[in-house]
Amino acid sequence: MNTCDLVIRGGTVVTEGAVADCDVSISGGVIVQLGGSMQGAAELDARGALVLPGGIDPHVHLSYPDPQPAEPGWADDFASGSAAAIAGGVTTIGNMTFPAEGDSLHQALARDLAAARDSAAVDYLLHPVMLGHMTGALAELPGLAREGHRSVKLFMTSAAFDQHADTMVEAVRVAGESGLLTLIHCEDGALIRFAGQQLLAAGRGGLSDWAASRPVAAERAAVQRAVAICEATGSPVYIVHVSSAQALDAARAGRARGLPVFVETRPLYLYLTSSALAGPQGGRFIGAPPLREDSDIAALWAGLGDGSIDTLGSDHAPWRLHHKIDATLDVTTARQGVADLETMLPMLYSAGVRTGRISLGRFVALTAANAARLLGLYPRKGTIAVGSDADILILDPQIRQTIDGRSMYSKAGYSAYDGHEVHGWPRFTVSRGEVVLADGQVLAQPGRGKWLPRGV
Ligand SMILES: [Zn+2]
Repeated sequence: MNTCDLVIRGGTVVTEGAVADCDVSISGGVIVQLGGSMQGAAELDARGALVLPGGIDPHVHLSYPDPQPAEPGWADDFASGSAAAIAGGVTTIGNMTFPAEGDSLHQALARDLAAARDSAAVDYLLHPVMLGHMTGALAELPGLAREGHRSVKLFMTSAAFDQHADTMVEAVRVAGESGLLTLIHCEDGALIRFAGQQLLAAGRGGLSDWAASRPVAAERAAVQRAVAICEATGSPVYIVHVSSAQALDAARAGRARGLPVFVETRPLYLYLTSSALAGPQGGRFIGAPPLREDSDIAALWAGLGDGSIDTLGSDHAPWRLHHKIDATLDVTTARQGVADLETMLPMLYSAGVRTGRISLGRFVALTAANAARLLGLYPRKGTIAVGSDADILILDPQIRQTIDGRSMYSKAGYSAYDGHEVHGWPRFTVSRGEVVLADGQVLAQPGRGKWLPRGV
């Protein structure tokens, strides 16, 4: 019997289509054998645990464009963000790469590629953000695809999107023609600006009014528009962080007509309602779109279970708490986003799989396989199969953990779920055959992460 580098012994291996008790043999960073007898230079004890594909988080924010000394940025960079990912069982991330003032998409990507090369400890790809005023970036899109990129991100929230709407539609067409997936933040800019100004004019508009400032109607209308752009151009669209039942239904209607509309949601919307925003330190829960109502939570869980939602993205956009709840902010200046890389997978397991709301197969589809397919990484990533990268989360269903952001790897220093009890937590994380989490400690060196260009 040949000796491989690493054996994962005694666990229950889970893929989208199968659950089986078998050992996993790894050599050279890839899976070389599933089941049967095997011997490893090193072994991991997975008895009593689930052996899952490492998480693919398609939506994180680990680089802040053009930081101003007076203005705080996101709390995590590629190093601390990678550590948070590994601690939460995530082995591949997709980072939103924002251009600084005056940057082209290529310049923004070059800066983030250099930063990630030096400090990322998980594998990564970058989603360049084409801001509404960047009409010249249209000409860059075919080149981005040739150079190995897989996506472009648009924001419907800005006035510039509507000022240059013809170019934005053309960008979706060119992206699709070039083989890029277009990610769209769907909230109608005019409607949210209107709602915010109405609140401010009425003497309201503090952070506790966040939900009222971003109405469901603005999200629903934007999703309908994204579906229409998909229909008109024939290009696929990926709607990031759907938060409401109405927006999900709008996406569903497009899919029912056979359109390539893909849907992501975000953990924040599965566990909390808008009442949290109105409570003490409500600013800690601010993300866009905002938290919604119980009926929306129920609709999103149903969508996770029935396949109407393709992916779960953390939208990890961490701020330190005092920056987040700063009382001088209002609904037009609020700092959007929370840390969630470390909590996304265990919480989905605990609240989803343990309760029977979703199957183990759906867990794998939502946290790894679907994102891998949409971003062209499958089956190198997103599954446990011979020849795939050995990216693996060994999750122990018996570990109980009370969320405490102060003790986590993200530099946010708090979690939106502080105090929530989770049942099921990572025992080990393995990235390309390297044990990067053991005994709750991240072992990976910054810079070990690899860019995942198309065609590799
Ligand atoms: Zn985001």
